[in-house]
Amino acid sequence: MQRTVGAPDDLGTDVIGVPTGTDVELDLRLEAVMEGVLVSGSVRTRAVGECVRCLGEVVEDVDVSLTELYVYPERAAVAVEDGDDEEDVRELEGDLVDLEPALRDAVVTALPFQPLCRPDCPGLCSQCGARLADDPDHSHEVLDPRWSALQGLASTTDETKES
Ligand SMILES: [Zn+2]
Ligand SMILES: [Zn+2]
Repeated sequence: MQRTVGAPDDLGTDVIGVPTGTDVELDLRLEAVMEGVLVSGSVRTRAVGECVRCLGEVVEDVDVSLTELYVYPERAAVAVEDGDDEEDVRELEGDLVDLEPALRDAVVTALPFQPLCRPDCPGLCSQCGARLADDPDHSHEVLDPRWSALQGLASTTDETKES
């Protein structure tokens, strides 16, 4: 089964997520098994977030596999008795398989906790907030108040001190 669906609301975390309505490509196989229906396959979509260091946009391709067993309601009760967590047991609702919770689990767990626009993002300048990635040679001449006093003294000459 290949299908493209729109991403549901809130598919993600506080820092990164798949915007509502983004294409989510599902390539899934549904297999009838003893207990119910086994759904397996892959999910591909794209998440957008904010770099934790520089607040720049992070676009992350998501490509995760998904395997989920949907059990018949009468089997679900047995599984719970056998000690499985109730939350981990997904029930078949009639002939319908509600994929959204499984999709959510698969995608959200694949997202980075601390998204970075690039692995070595230098972040923001602590002085002025400029993105250092855009301006790698960025520096400020005055780093220490004591230097500014000295610069005041030196301002009669054209000499400038590099910090
Ligand atoms: Zn960044
Ligand atoms: Zn700066």
